[in-house]
Amino acid sequence: EGRPVKPTRKRRIGVMGGTFDPIHHGHLVAASEAQSAFELDEVIFVPAAVQPFKAGREVTCAEHRYLMTVVATAANPTFSVSRVDIDRGGTTYTIDTLTDLFADRDEVEPYFITGADALARILEWKDADKLLEMAQFVGVTRPGHKLLDPSGGMGNVKLLEVPAMAISSTDCRERVRENKPVWYLVPDGVVQYIKKYGLYR
Ligand code: ATP
Ligand code: MG
Repeated sequence: EGRPVKPTRKRRIGVMGGTFDPIHHGHLVAASEAQSAFELDEVIFVPAAVQPFKAGREVTCAEHRYLMTVVATAANPTFSVSRVDIDRGGTTYTIDTLTDLFADRDEVEPYFITGADALARILEWKDADKLLEMAQFVGVTRPGHKLLDPSGGMGNVKLLEVPAMAISSTDCRERVRENKPVWYLVPDGVVQYIKKYGLYR
C-alpha cells in the first residue's frame, strides 16, 4: 500500500558553543572534523552571552562576536550561526542552548562539540547529568590539554583527534593589542573585521 517507506536516519546537527572573542581556525577545524567524523548534516555555531566560567572577565560585545562568527562561517553551506544564547542574554548554560534549539525536535540527533579544556569541566556545567543525556558530546583534542572522558564512559561522550591548532582567542587578542599579526590564525574576514572596528586595542 502506498509508497515504500524510505529508511531514514535522524538529522544529525552539531552545535559548537563558544565565546568566539574572536573566532579562530581552531574552532573551525574542530567543527569541520566533527562534522566529517560523525557525518553531521550541519553545524550551528552558538556565541555565548555571558560564559559562566568567564564571569568578571572583559568580553567583547555580543554583536561583534556574533558578526565575526557569521563572517568566519559564511562560505561553508553546512555551517550556520544561532543567536539563541545572545538573545536570551544573561549567563549562558548549554542546557538552555540545547533546549531552545532542539526541544520538540525528535527528528534531530544533537552533537555538542567541545575542546579538551571545556570537556574536562563538563561535570561542573549546569544540570550536567541531564545535559549528557540531551546530546552526544564530542570532545576534540587541543594542544596543551589532555583529552579525557570525564563521565567515565557513562555519558554519551566521544573523543576525536583533530589536527593540532595551537590557537586561542586569548592569544589572538594579545597579538592584536601588541600589533602582532593574526593573519592565518583567524579567517581573513575576521582579520579585517577586527581592524575595521578597532577591536582588542
Ligand atoms: P579564550 O582564550 O578566550 O578562552 P578559546 O580559544 O578557548 O578562547 P572559546 O570560545 O573559549 O575559545 O572556545 C569555544 C570552544 O572551542 C571550546 O569548546 C574550546 O575548547 C574549543 N576550542 C577553542 N580553541 C580550540 C583549538 N585550538 N582546538 C580545539 N578546540 C578549541
Ligand atoms: Mg576558552
